[in-house]
Amino acid sequence: MSNLDRVFKRIEAYREEIIALQRELTSRIALGPDNGGGGEHEKTAYLKKKMEELAPSSLEEIRSPDERADRGYRPNLVARWDGKTAYPTVWVLSHTDVVPPGDLNLWESDPYQVRVEGDKIIGRGVEDNQHGIVSSYLALKAIRESGEALKRSVGLALVADEETGSKYGLDYLLKDRPDLFKPDDLIIVPDGGNDQGTMIEVAEKSLLWLKFIVTGKQCHGSAPERGKNSLYGAARLIVGLEKMKKEFSLEDLLFRPPRSTFEPTKMEGNVPNINTIPGRDVFYMDCRVLPQYSLDEIIKFAETLAREVAAELGLSIDVKTHYRQEATAPTPSDAPVVVALTEAIQKVKGLEAKPMGIGGGTVAAFFRRAGLPAAVWITEPNTAHQPNEYCLISSVISDAKVFAYLYMGG
Ligand SMILES: [Zn+2]
Repeated sequence: MSNLDRVFKRIEAYREEIIALQRELTSRIALGPDNGGGGEHEKTAYLKKKMEELAPSSLEEIRSPDERADRGYRPNLVARWDGKTAYPTVWVLSHTDVVPPGDLNLWESDPYQVRVEGDKIIGRGVEDNQHGIVSSYLALKAIRESGEALKRSVGLALVADEETGSKYGLDYLLKDRPDLFKPDDLIIVPDGGNDQGTMIEVAEKSLLWLKFIVTGKQCHGSAPERGKNSLYGAARLIVGLEKMKKEFSLEDLLFRPPRSTFEPTKMEGNVPNINTIPGRDVFYMDCRVLPQYSLDEIIKFAETLAREVAAELGLSIDVKTHYRQEATAPTPSDAPVVVALTEAIQKVKGLEAKPMGIGGGTVAAFFRRAGLPAAVWITEPNTAHQPNEYCLISSVISDAKVFAYLYMGG
């Protein structure tokens, strides 16, 4: 048996260990202040102990000040194990925070007490992002227990605040400790993928949230001539905005879906009663735009459409940019991290992985903006943020093997 096979055998025997880790992690509820929680302290402290068990070469807790959080900070953990050569390091960056469970009636069991059903572990956070935490950790544990050497240096980063903007997580880490990550490092963010584990995310679209405020004149439902019905303006404009799909119809096969998307989403309440004609309607649009277009030209086009509808119906329409994030330069499809991951996936799973772009947005954008080519990859059923979120034990095992392959340098 080869060294790698011995490590793989050990990983295959980790079913109970995976369930136990998922149980412990899920019960330590890591909600950020924006989600009504005190932060990630308990979960991070537990993980710190687990990391210590594997005798890291260095282990640091990097605290980002946040007055709203317990103890006034958010904990970020960085553990490193030296390989035979110091660089490049294989980094796996996972996040400790979770999103709230949402409507509890939609859950079949307590979201914070994991339930096991055959190959499934069910609970809040088991996929997002504990699948990544557990598989990257167990890969290292198996190598340590087998007495095998790491060829590459390994870094496990466990960051806070991914679900609510990363200001106290990766964004802080990159600013506070620019020495940690090097452009040559293989940086993997196990926080997105498909159920086969064949999707390596390397690019994201630009994100634009537009807010449309349609103003008319409110009046009694029986006397429309005394007012201006803003709902007609909103309806007309929503239909008109479909022109954006035609105007910005470029396709780029790196992305899924291959074109930009423009979808009206949230609608604010207007009048509470049926016999009042509304004088103000507000709705939003979620646009995911291929990097080939500038967001400014998208905004300009939306403004022109809004002006036309406003003039036609005698209303006024304001177009506001609620949020915008310009796409970062993608990680090249032939970047070392993509090549190494593709090889590892092929060797472990016998599958051909492909670099792809998505609608956004993962935390990898922070790496890319800092000039660090990161790849997003994991094998996941895409149940993140949903009720009855689950992960598959078999996928955690196969992904741990992929990480072990990378740590051992193939
Ligand atoms: Zn996540």
